[in-house]
Amino acid sequence: MRQDARVRIHHLNCGTMRPAGGRLMDGHRGLLRSARLVCHCLLIESGDGLVLVDTGLGTEDVERPRERLGRSFLAGVRPVLDEAETALAQVRRLGFAPGDVRHVVMTHLDLDHAGGLSDFPDAQVHVLDVELDAALHPASLTEHRRYRPPQWAHGPRWAVHGARGEPWLGFDRVEAVGEIFLVPLHGHTRGHAGVAVSRGDGWLFHGGDAFFHHGEVESPPRCPRGLIAFQRLMAVDEAARRHNQERLRDLHAAHPDQVTIVCAHDPSLLSRARGRSAAHPRRAART
Ligand SMILES: [Zn+2]
Repeated sequence: MRQDARVRIHHLNCGTMRPAGGRLMDGHRGLLRSARLVCHCLLIESGDGLVLVDTGLGTEDVERPRERLGRSFLAGVRPVLDEAETALAQVRRLGFAPGDVRHVVMTHLDLDHAGGLSDFPDAQVHVLDVELDAALHPASLTEHRRYRPPQWAHGPRWAVHGARGEPWLGFDRVEAVGEIFLVPLHGHTRGHAGVAVSRGDGWLFHGGDAFFHHGEVESPPRCPRGLIAFQRLMAVDEAARRHNQERLRDLHAAHPDQVTIVCAHDPSLLSRARGRSAAHPRRAART
């Protein structure tokens, strides 16, 4: 497992997904093959124990997928369901105990992000108040489908944050744990947020599901058509989602060296982040 040089950040894939649609979904060759998407989570070695950013799919999702994830997700997104990919298994492989994970910072509570919560029942779970309200009180069919109450039936130790914070590079930031901040990015869900992690002289920014493909934060923006349609379908506020993608494009253009931007489901951003950490350890602290 690789990590950054200064602040130790491990880039984990906590759930491979193989939806149909080939290049319409992931931009690589072929229409008839399955696409490949990941659940990119961060494991940060902080001064306050381990901090996990998103949890992907957990051990109970792998063991009881129908109950935990529901049939429509299994049929449409086709997760691989490999216990070795859970955050719990990867934390152990890195030589830590599950109890070392003191905090979990959630971009949002969709089922492909919250599945591992029950593997870390003692951790504080940081989330925006609007997002927790949406998950506990779903108001539409989409919200009923995307949030899965069995994933928090164990009673997580929620640490709920308001969406108002201090200015940060054109956004708001809300302190979650030390130098790790929630950055409200409403649109994909009611209380969706990115997560900004300070690395001393730079930032790692996890955009969650605010965008799905690296081309969306580049200029001119580009994205496989199937992924565009999927994002529209899942958005609770499409105008806000698109506006926030524009803001992220501006962030990327204004601070290409200071801020490294990743998202939850793009496998190439995951491998770039891992490669940057491993191949250029001295640059990693800056990028
Ligand atoms: Zn997602």
